[in-house]
Amino acid sequence: MSTASVRPIRDIASWHAHIYFDAGSSEASRRLRRRIEERFAVEVGPWHDAPFGPHTTPSWYFGYTVEQFRDITSWLVLNREGLRVLIHPNTDDPWADHALNGLWIGGDQRLNLDGLPRSLAAVGASPEVVQVNTTPGVPVEA
Ligand code: ZN
Repeated sequence: MSTASVRPIRDIASWHAHIYFDAGSSEASRRLRRRIEERFAVEVGPWHDAPFGPHTTPSWYFGYTVEQFRDITSWLVLNREGLRVLIHPNTDDPWADHALNGLWIGGDQRLNLDGLPRSLAAVGASPEVVQVNTTPGVPVEA
């Protein structure tokens, strides 16, 4: 029997989807970003044409809630424009969120995990909550 503790679902404060692209897929990435903004009340992060944080290629992300997980993840896997995507939970342990518990779509790629803490509480921070910055008007293809 395993002695490792079992983590509760409530550890997950929110989800991130990181979208990776290169020069050849930049346009498709822009189109996906626009479609997300049009359809979902989410937090869309900055566009990075160069590596940023743990992400070793150009990327952008959007944050969504636990309640949105089913619909948004379902829509995204069908409409990701062939792009590589990392979906990871946001918990107190960003290192594990990225290194161990992410869902890769379209293949994985290297992350730079050096700057990621093992406990946000230990550094006086909290897991990320979604700051909605989109005003969707297009109905989701349900
Ligand atoms: Zn993230």
